[in-house]
Amino acid sequence: MSATLGLRELVVDFRRRGQLPLRAVDRVSLALTPGRTLALVGESGSGKSTVVRALSGLVRPTSGEILLDGEVVRRLNRLAYRRRVQMVFQDPFASLNPAHDVAHHLRRSLLVHHRAATRGASEEVDELLVSVNLVPAGDFAAKRPHELSGGQRQRVAIARALAPDPDVLLADEPVSMLDVSIRLEILNLLDRLKTDRQLAMLYVTHDLATARHFSEEVVVMYRGEIVERGTSDEVILSPAHPYTQLLAAAAPTGIRGAAGDGSRRRPIPVAHDEAERRQTIVGGGCRFVRRCPYAMDACFERPPELEVSPGHLARCWLHATGGSVVTRRDEDRYG
Ligand code: SF4
Repeated sequence: MSATLGLRELVVDFRRRGQLPLRAVDRVSLALTPGRTLALVGESGSGKSTVVRALSGLVRPTSGEILLDGEVVRRLNRLAYRRRVQMVFQDPFASLNPAHDVAHHLRRSLLVHHRAATRGASEEVDELLVSVNLVPAGDFAAKRPHELSGGQRQRVAIARALAPDPDVLLADEPVSMLDVSIRLEILNLLDRLKTDRQLAMLYVTHDLATARHFSEEVVVMYRGEIVERGTSDEVILSPAHPYTQLLAAAAPTGIRGAAGDGSRRRPIPVAHDEAERRQTIVGGGCRFVRRCPYAMDACFERPPELEVSPGHLARCWLHATGGSVVTRRDEDRYG
């Protein structure tokens, strides 16, 4: 199956007055395919949200290409691109205009993208609300955002994203600002919509447990670059990169069968921000070297490539010889 939306060697630099530029995203390539979810995982500052903003057109890439069905996106009509690629934002409170009712938000998107012929479009609005389980639809259509709970607002935001009938949904931490009790409902809704509509979905999160359950593929980012990628079970149950291993070990919810179940939880070492940032700019050794429990001489000298085995890749010198993936359970060999 060909990729619907892809990134090829995406680089995003942020210029800072009087300072060296910050490379937020460094040569990131990935592909989103219909009916599948790719989870982009990493801590704050890893560059995952910048990737989503570049894909949605909110950030201009410094270099690299965004491809939609193999065609370079900068040559495409912007409105046509937005019709096919929609985004669900992290904050459902800020993403809706408090001055307008729910019907207005949905109707506007339907009309802009020519999905409704009339200014009323009440039938189409009702259909969208039913698709995200906001029933009776007529009641919700007349409500304003302040009359809705956080979960209901996020459902409205999802319905608005569905209004143009997109092929791709970019979900940037869609449940991180919601009560724990309703996160699962929203993720189940997104999962059902992905299957029913054959959406290609990007799920950005720092939560490894939900990444495993709601995605087929996981990509882990650290300091702007991909450090590990593979199927969700491979990456989360048998993490190959020491950073992924630490993320799993620090997971607050515990991941059954993974290195990070609750009994073995341990904190992630603190980053040495400036030193790592400088290293990022000059392109020195491994970016994780100052936090890595397995660091060796080579790690300070040359950046590792992304390699290990077909389908499961890690950017780490521990795997540079072409041997099998080294998991946390093998840590004694390197401890
Ligand atoms: Fe650790 Fe070295 Fe691997 Fe980097 S390359 S993650 S420092 S072992």
